[in-house]
Amino acid sequence: MGVTEGILRRQSARESAARTYARALPIVPVRARGLTIEGADGRRYLDCLSGAGTLALGHNHPVVLEAIRDVLDSGAPLHALDLATPVKDAFVTELLGTLPPGLAGRARVQFCGPAGTDAVEAALKLVRTATGRAGILTFTGAYHGMTRGAQEVSGHATDLTGHGADVTRLPYPQDYRCPFGVGGEAGAELAARWAESVLDDPKSGVPRPAGLIVEPVQGEGGVIPAPDTWLRRVREITAARSIPLIADEVQTGVGRTGAFWAVEHSGITPDVMVLSKAIGGSLPLAVVVYRDDLDVWQPGAHAGTFRGNQLAMAAGTATLAYVRRHGLSERAAALGARMLTHLRRLGDEFACVGDVRGRGLMIGMEMVEPEADVVEGGVVGSGVVEGGVVGDTSDGGGLAPDAVPVPHPRTESARRPRPASPRLAAAVQRECLHRGLIVELGGRHASVVRLLPPLTITDEQAAAVLDRLADAVAAAARTAPTAQERDQYSEQRGAHSPQTG
Ligand code: PMP
Repeated sequence: MGVTEGILRRQSARESAARTYARALPIVPVRARGLTIEGADGRRYLDCLSGAGTLALGHNHPVVLEAIRDVLDSGAPLHALDLATPVKDAFVTELLGTLPPGLAGRARVQFCGPAGTDAVEAALKLVRTATGRAGILTFTGAYHGMTRGAQEVSGHATDLTGHGADVTRLPYPQDYRCPFGVGGEAGAELAARWAESVLDDPKSGVPRPAGLIVEPVQGEGGVIPAPDTWLRRVREITAARSIPLIADEVQTGVGRTGAFWAVEHSGITPDVMVLSKAIGGSLPLAVVVYRDDLDVWQPGAHAGTFRGNQLAMAAGTATLAYVRRHGLSERAAALGARMLTHLRRLGDEFACVGDVRGRGLMIGMEMVEPEADVVEGGVVGSGVVEGGVVGDTSDGGGLAPDAVPVPHPRTESARRPRPASPRLAAAVQRECLHRGLIVELGGRHASVVRLLPPLTITDEQAAAVLDRLADAVAAAARTAPTAQERDQYSEQRGAHSPQTG
């Protein structure tokens, strides 16, 4: 038996049943550089998973390796709790230099345990302490992590028993599967009004919350960019009611969406930002950054042994500085837009591609069952854009708040989203792997093929990724469901756990 098979066999015999990526991606990486991973069997892959969106500069970028070596060679302590060090000082200076000025000017930084979920816990605790209130507003489809508090404010909280007494979920606007059946600006406006009404109706059953947590682009939820107008409305609504707004930029940060921080697209200034993944330059690091007036914590209110990872801070400083100096946010915006255009053409070609969406280099392609009912006349309509529920976030209608169009169920027809196809998404992922391309799956039904390439990806590499993906979609489209898959598909409304931990 080869090295690869032996390692994989021992992994499945010895590691937890909860393992995720390892199931869909049976590879044994031994070397990696930039976009490329090499397996123990010598096979090479283009990696568009990038450590679940962590590797802004790809694997083992020279500036990251150099920063790590410098710390090692300097004899600095590798473990420093939350003590002051020159390495940390440089990291905080670089980080604050990138943050929205309205927050950076008055920011406090709390280093957390090394995972994103710990920073989410810290943020929730912070706003609860600062406001003396308990409730949290969150959104359908959200993903904030796997510890209990973070899970309670996520869409997969149903996996917990006795969960979420203090959590209220609001609709997250989306075009393809708009909860109001209208999509576009109208759907976003209805979502904002729903939030307002929950807060202002004295009998909504929702007391004034301690905070609202939002992803500017839902990642695990299926790559759903929040419309800028909606995010600005959310900012107004929360500010007017003194509700701290927490932006979870764990996945969207550090240039990923085409702005250094995704909140910059809408121009809002959050009260709290939760940051992890790319800020550690591929090593574990998480922080919560918040405005100074929220800093009411007692000493030790949020602690943890591993808050002082010097290697991660050095790697993070190098990464943040590289993204800033080389304009990689702008690069992500431009290349991401081109890739989306290309993928939308693929969507026109294949009926099993239901929707293509994204922002910057955070891209999703939702797979659907092609032979299911496509058009249901008179079921869902929009007074704004005929059939505009599919894939278009930019109708630019500039709707005044009073002009929310009411759906006309019988007088208009629109394309109804076809049922999500987790089996086709899994088939695309498998076919990609055969062609040397690693992609992620996500979305409510695990039916969204996700691309999170490094921001350093070249045009030629992007073309190779798109070619392999197109071939994989064509191959997957030829596969018919097995009897078992057909059964699963008919019960598909059940929960699908996200891959990311
Ligand atoms: N928030 C968001 C938006 C995330 O995407 C993730 C991870 N995918 C987390 C929080 C949790 O981060 P971690 O897995 O490091 O705990």
